[in-house]
Amino acid sequence: MAKKLIPYATQWVDEDDIAAVVAALGSSNLTQGPRVLEFEEKMAAYCGAKYAVAVNSGTSALHLACLAAGISFGDEVITSPITFVASANCVLYCGAKPVFADVQEDIINIDSDEVRKKIGPKTKALIPVHFSGNPCEMEKINALAKENKLLVIEDASHALGAKYQGQMIGSGQFSDLTVFSFHAVKHIAIGEGGMVLTNNKDLYEKLLLYRSHGITRDRKDLNNYEGDWFYEMHSLGYNFRLTDIQSALGISQLNKLDAFVDRRKEISRRYHEAFADFQKVKVLVETDGAESSYHLFVILVEDRKTVFYKLREAGIMVNVHYLPIYLQPYYRQLGYLPGLCPVAEGYYKKTLSLPMYPKLSDQEVDFVIDTVKDILLKERMA
Ligand SMILES: *Cc1c(COP(=O)(O)O)cnc(C)c1O
Repeated sequence: MAKKLIPYATQWVDEDDIAAVVAALGSSNLTQGPRVLEFEEKMAAYCGAKYAVAVNSGTSALHLACLAAGISFGDEVITSPITFVASANCVLYCGAKPVFADVQEDIINIDSDEVRKKIGPKTKALIPVHFSGNPCEMEKINALAKENKLLVIEDASHALGAKYQGQMIGSGQFSDLTVFSFHAVKHIAIGEGGMVLTNNKDLYEKLLLYRSHGITRDRKDLNNYEGDWFYEMHSLGYNFRLTDIQSALGISQLNKLDAFVDRRKEISRRYHEAFADFQKVKVLVETDGAESSYHLFVILVEDRKTVFYKLREAGIMVNVHYLPIYLQPYYRQLGYLPGLCPVAEGYYKKTLSLPMYPKLSDQEVDFVIDTVKDILLKERMA
């Protein structure tokens, strides 16, 4: 009989989610309709932002945020090396150059002191990434941005439901734009999808324009109104639209978000307790004033490779997040060199992501903990 595998992440979809999608399928709008607007309004209300723009992926959300921020050829944008490639690719899409600032030891978010060193005359924006769901030191990052007239785009793909200084991530307290992803492994799952939040009306209007081909029908914006059929294309936009079908799932998932985040926090407490006095496992530390929503639970171990394979043999499908982006072959070929961010590179050698998702049972968490400890204790004997 096949062994039951424990994935590192998976979605939670109930009957009511299915019913919501079925209802959307029977309605008159399949693509952008009333459910997209409702999903946007609910996300904006949940996070405490004024405006929200839904798109077809987190990657599109990052690209759209960069376009709205006016990032273009010749600009530099500073981001973290320890993130999914999309956090830096969005800068390349705009013809600009990603600059990597090293991460904080034990926290693994971009270090504001390192960011300061990388700011130059071409720097246009900062993209802090709330790695694993733990918010960056946003107050310092935002102060740096203000000082240097830079825009801040939070990549909050890991951090829906997280808080910083008492406010929800996405509130825009310390940034201009915040990006979320609704990929199946993230806090709410809609297949593929993303959203950009902002409190700035000007940025909001640009987001709307670039989401749909750069086309406007708004009569006040038209150069030359010829009749009610008329629209004009004012910038080179894209088709980043989300469907009503996916938005129905998004709205339904959003109702469960608090419960999802609570369960993730419970699981993290269980892991924290288990490894607190266990020297062979190090866990990450939360940022001062932050409350992580635990997209990932990361541990650091010596001889990561052996531990990875032994856990997988036991049916625990651990993962690694992430190889520093600039070590990816595509980035190497652009001229980035090893040694650029030593803390990030040291972290990569030891990191493992343990299973973390709301459906994970206490028994499964305990099985993961016992197996990790077993492997590491036997390692010493060998
Ligand atoms: C998932 C993710 C993205 C991209 O989101 P998609 O919805 O998969 O396009 C971007 N940044 C980070 C940090 C992510 O984890």
